[in-house]
Amino acid sequence: MNSILVVGSIALDTVKTTEGSSCDALGGSATFFSLAARYFASVSLVGVVGSDFPAEHRALLSGRGIDVSGLKTAKGKTFRWSGKYGRDASVAKTLATHLNVFKDFRPKLSEAHRKIPVIFLANIDPELQAEVLAQMKSPALVAADTMNFWIGSKPEAIKELLAKVDIFFCNEDEAEALAERPNPLQAAEVIASWGPSVVVVKKGEHGSLMKIGSRFYIFPPFPLATIKDPTGAGDSFAGGFLGYLASAGVYDDVDHLKRAMAYGSVLASFNVEDFSTKNISDLDRDLIDERFHDFVDRMSVPRSDELIKTRRAVAA
Ligand code: AMP
Repeated sequence: MNSILVVGSIALDTVKTTEGSSCDALGGSATFFSLAARYFASVSLVGVVGSDFPAEHRALLSGRGIDVSGLKTAKGKTFRWSGKYGRDASVAKTLATHLNVFKDFRPKLSEAHRKIPVIFLANIDPELQAEVLAQMKSPALVAADTMNFWIGSKPEAIKELLAKVDIFFCNEDEAEALAERPNPLQAAEVIASWGPSVVVVKKGEHGSLMKIGSRFYIFPPFPLATIKDPTGAGDSFAGGFLGYLASAGVYDDVDHLKRAMAYGSVLASFNVEDFSTKNISDLDRDLIDERFHDFVDRMSVPRSDELIKTRRAVAA
């Protein structure tokens, strides 16, 4: 099984949505990513939690086969984020971000972790992302994500990092803010010029875009009538996407990248059906593949070559 190393936040989230709320629930970019990617590949998690991090959360992660040997416990409080969502579930309003133990986190990767071929720099301080990447021994694939908190405070560090990134994920509004462009297509164009050969722009309940070379590919979301909690959708999207690519072992083929987009959309759709990590912790691969096929079948529109030929013949 191919392996992925992920560094990012491990958090206690307090979230309010139109469907309810949760308080100090398990969250964080690296958490959602790991739980989604582990259905496809083995995952090693690098990060830090405080001494208040519940033992049951660590047990949940290790119980799902995630390598937590790089998950350190430091004196102090775990990273905390609180946010709320209105009717547009694709826009989170951040109410508070407390970096806590992440403020002083300086990870030193083990020899085994440095050799992992696929690395995901999940949303966290871009300087920390760069520090982890610098320790890797020529990874085959480098992917990264970020968010408005870091775009606002450290945009230059993000741009510097992007020169070393193959695949970049971000939300529509974040792409526009980072690139200083008014729409996601223009924004992806600018971001690609800084380094990544693949740029994925997530548009929440409006689907996603993938730019490879000069071409944009468009994807709808998996249709769901109710979204309980969008938190972590972007990270589980990246987990499904990179998990699938790592399992395929091919990183630059358009068909594999399109399937990765579909698996990403599917994992994100499971994620938002319940609060925190509840709905992605105990899926099974058959259920995921079933929804993947349902999704790609719904997306495909038959070509009309015959109809066009007949129309032209009649017109001639
Ligand atoms: P998303 O996939 O974008 O919904 O990511 C949500 C997760 O990101 C939440 O579980 C938060 O704990 C985490 N998060 C929020 N703000 C930050 C930040 N500034 N840096 C790292 N992680 C964050």
